[in-house]
Amino acid sequence: MPALRVLSLYPELMNIYADRGNIAVLRARCEWRGLGFEHAATSLGERFDPDAHGLFYMGGGQDRDQVAVAHDMAETKRDALHEAADRGAVMLAVCGGYQLLGHSYELGGEELPGVGLVDLRTIREPGPRLIGNCAIEAELGTGPRVIAGFENHGGRTYLGADESPLGRVLAGHGNNGRDGFEGVHRGNVIGTYLHGPLLPKNVWLADRLIELALGIELEPLPGDRLEEAAHAAAKRAAGV
Ligand code: GLN
Repeated sequence: MPALRVLSLYPELMNIYADRGNIAVLRARCEWRGLGFEHAATSLGERFDPDAHGLFYMGGGQDRDQVAVAHDMAETKRDALHEAADRGAVMLAVCGGYQLLGHSYELGGEELPGVGLVDLRTIREPGPRLIGNCAIEAELGTGPRVIAGFENHGGRTYLGADESPLGRVLAGHGNNGRDGFEGVHRGNVIGTYLHGPLLPKNVWLADRLIELALGIELEPLPGDRLEEAAHAAAKRAAGV
């Protein structure tokens, strides 16, 4: 029986809006199908084996926690993350974690390094935080689907000219409140501003990540009534 091996990056520092709830959903949906599930964590000062995990996960965080995380990640984890991404491992990064996947996060005259897995920059520009319910349309190989959640970020993210967003904003601000893009999607690397936590409100996305990580196709789970209601409520909250 295949097993989903998940590595959480900095779970004690990058867990705003209980983003670690995303891991609980991945675990449950694997176990309900009889698939194996293993979860490990890595944090400040630690290195990891890029071949030992199929899905890498990082949640959102406050600017002050991102400072320590950004420097540590660039120093101790950048190369292993590139190795894993190059062999097709799945990566999901939310908000503060998403910002650190790019080249840099510039805030208050300081430029935090990113790991450069994707071509984007984030800047803390003057202006209000981008807060509210948000819905996007994304295509992850199974036709266009809606991802709905909640965003709260001061940073504005700009994709490079050849980089692809995760989706098109249907409602809310997205990457920067201007260009109509939300998140990033390159190969199996996905970044998004959407909390919720994200996966409890969008279980189709959780299932798709499991499929991509394990190279299998999943049947929908019967009895997803509560999950579908949560998805519908998140869409309604965003007004779509
Ligand atoms: N600290 C980052 C910002 O404000 C990310 C916030 C978050 O993860 N919600 O832009």
